[in-house]
Amino acid sequence: MNRTLTALAAIALLAPIPAVSQTPPPASRVPSVEEIADRALVEDMLAWDFVEGITTEVGPRQAGTEDEARGRAWAVDWLKRNGFANVADEPFMMDTWVPGDIARARVTAPFAQDLAVLPLGNSAATPRGGLEAEVVFFRTVDELRAAPEGSLRGKIAYVSHQMRPAQDGSHYGFAGPVRWVGPGLAASKGAVGIVIKSVGTDHHRNPHTGSTSFPEGVKPIPAGALSLPDAENLERMFARAGDRPVRLRLEMNPRQIGRTQSGNVVGEIVGTNPLLPPVLVACHIDSWWNSPGAFDDGAGCAIVAAAARNVLYAGPPLRTIRVLMAGAEETGLWGSRAYSEAHLAEPIAVGIESDFGADRVWRFDSNFRESNPALHARIAGSVARFGVSGGTAVATGGADLNIVRDQKGALIDLRQDGTRYFDLHHTPDDTLDKIDLAQLRQNVAVWTQVVGILANEPNSILTGGPIPAAPPIMQGE
Ligand SMILES: [Zn+2]
Repeated sequence: MNRTLTALAAIALLAPIPAVSQTPPPASRVPSVEEIADRALVEDMLAWDFVEGITTEVGPRQAGTEDEARGRAWAVDWLKRNGFANVADEPFMMDTWVPGDIARARVTAPFAQDLAVLPLGNSAATPRGGLEAEVVFFRTVDELRAAPEGSLRGKIAYVSHQMRPAQDGSHYGFAGPVRWVGPGLAASKGAVGIVIKSVGTDHHRNPHTGSTSFPEGVKPIPAGALSLPDAENLERMFARAGDRPVRLRLEMNPRQIGRTQSGNVVGEIVGTNPLLPPVLVACHIDSWWNSPGAFDDGAGCAIVAAAARNVLYAGPPLRTIRVLMAGAEETGLWGSRAYSEAHLAEPIAVGIESDFGADRVWRFDSNFRESNPALHARIAGSVARFGVSGGTAVATGGADLNIVRDQKGALIDLRQDGTRYFDLHHTPDDTLDKIDLAQLRQNVAVWTQVVGILANEPNSILTGGPIPAAPPIMQGE
């Protein structure tokens, strides 16, 4: 080869930009994370594709059942088709409860009529043909808590609450204990059954199911949720009953079917530096048997997966982005616990979860605002253009991020507007039509921006210090 050609070849290697133009047309340029996030805000269809697909092709996905297995297989296929690497369905075993096919409640006296009821997760069955008993009315779970020992023997407890819609969804923490601990309390005081006012905020005749649990040593009793209109009707009956007892016949046939297999679906956008711990973005793949799970949590899986995939359009990130679509969240965080158990020894850089529907993100919180203020401020600044405020609360992460909490790692909460979340939560109304595409896209934009920053952050998310952890002497300490 002559020297001129060699020199030209060397120049070509050093200067790949064509001589005709210093600024290549945008289409041929790798876009920045900011540009990709801005574009997602107006045109993302990837998240929609996921949630439309899983609600259409799979539907309800009760944990530990064949339906959930179909949902996981569907998600595995979707991740593979959309460019994720290391896609797997990591199996684990769980105790599985199924709802049965009978759920009936009927007031027999003094004003006979049917009420809409569904069993709560972990509810026991009634005897075949049902049980009938006098109902004892408690306005709050604290009133139930204060009932004397043995005072509910042979009775059915009914517990109400005054849950209201709120942007931050905080009334779930206020009303939730009616479902979470009410049945256990009633059982421990001798009740033969319990019905609660659904933990929800809508007035459709759809009971809201959800998990309950019974304390060690307390035998589970039949536990059902009444729709809000039916619960209010029952309360009016009490107001008109005077001295007459209100009696209820309850029949339900849910059951525990023992150990079955579930799994955690994972997939990765592989980073360029394998020494850096990955960014973990989580959601859950299961839903209740009565709910197609569009908001809870098809949308969450759609958002995290779309964001992870979007970041790749800016070129491979520094860190791997790992998507965790946890199995069996609803019935007791089985997937979250199994994932932590299996992977605890592998450090996670930071965890974020989407499990609060598909309405817009309005606040960013982290648990490193004090330990890494520069990164916290940078992320807050980057999402302000999407209408997301920087919060001062300490992020605690979603239910499927047990591994990060177990590692005492970095957490981010991207808080979504929950005003209508509890209208739909754990009901047949949780369907695709409730998803507002503009708000879904805002989620994807915010997530793409945040995950893009995190996945290209070379230092420790939690402390801002250098990683991989070098001996103190190399860190200048
Ligand atoms: Zn959920």
